Amino acid sequence: MRIVTVPWEMTRLVTERREAGQSVGLVPTMGFFHAGHVSLMRAAREENDFVVVSLFVNPIQFGPREDFKEYPRDLQRDVEIAAQAGVDCIFHPRVEDMYPQPYLTFVEVEGITEGLCGASRPGHFRGVATVVAKLFHIIPAHRAYFGLKDAQQVRVIQKMVEDLNFDIQIVTCPTVREEDGLAMSSRNVYLKPEERRAATVLYRSLRRAEEMVRGGEREAREVLAAVRETLETEPLVEPEYVEAVDWEGLRPVERLQGKVLIALAARVGKARLIDNVLLEV
Ligand code: AMP
Repeated sequence: MRIVTVPWEMTRLVTERREAGQSVGLVPTMGFFHAGHVSLMRAAREENDFVVVSLFVNPIQFGPREDFKEYPRDLQRDVEIAAQAGVDCIFHPRVEDMYPQPYLTFVEVEGITEGLCGASRPGHFRGVATVVAKLFHIIPAHRAYFGLKDAQQVRVIQKMVEDLNFDIQIVTCPTVREEDGLAMSSRNVYLKPEERRAATVLYRSLRRAEEMVRGGEREAREVLAAVRETLETEPLVEPEYVEAVDWEGLRPVERLQGKVLIALAARVGKARLIDNVLLEV
């Protein structure tokens, strides 16, 4: 497995592979791999001749009071996990090479970035869209793989690709969970043992929502109240938002019909965790 740090070298390598007739899959990540990342790598491995994983903790998607500095990093372990998953190349650029100073050009996806995580993390999705656009240019892949755990991010990338005519297929993969249901996240390492136990309430509350909808409930208000009520049973969990939105526009809905995302964010100790379920009603 190769490790490339210089953007133009990465572009040259991928361009050579394309010209040799190979298909290329890209998995953008911030590293500190877990089984969720590995599921994306394996999906890319199955569908492409050449698989690149980008590993870059992107400073511009973190707010000034967020965890950019503390974000967990372990390159050596990540390299081993990626090699094990059959990845061909890791792209691990330096911040100075991704953002030559002064850096002046950004990608802004409007509307769908206003609610959910966008409301409490101003500039976050601008940072995400910008870095992913850059990665799509540096690594001209045929397909790029994203996890539905970050559902709003998926919609932002899909819309950016549509609006800016990127020639790439976006492949989405289901959320990988711990045995007790907690969505895997690099940020779960922030949790103390007691908080880790309490955090299982996130998915439990979403399962309750899912069951209510399966049982015929169509009023978003009722379902969201049940989710909040479940979250309240854990004093260590401090909900930030609980919402039901349509998948297309990520706008709050009153009636649950069609493709509906029930999403939440909560603080547990010093971790900010998100989770969601995507329902076809
Ligand atoms: P991150 O390194 O956290 O930025 O995540 C990189 C990619 O892995 C994103 O597309 C995430 O949506 C995806 N991902 C993170 N956690 C999970 C998970 N538990 N299941 C599936 N995909 C995930």
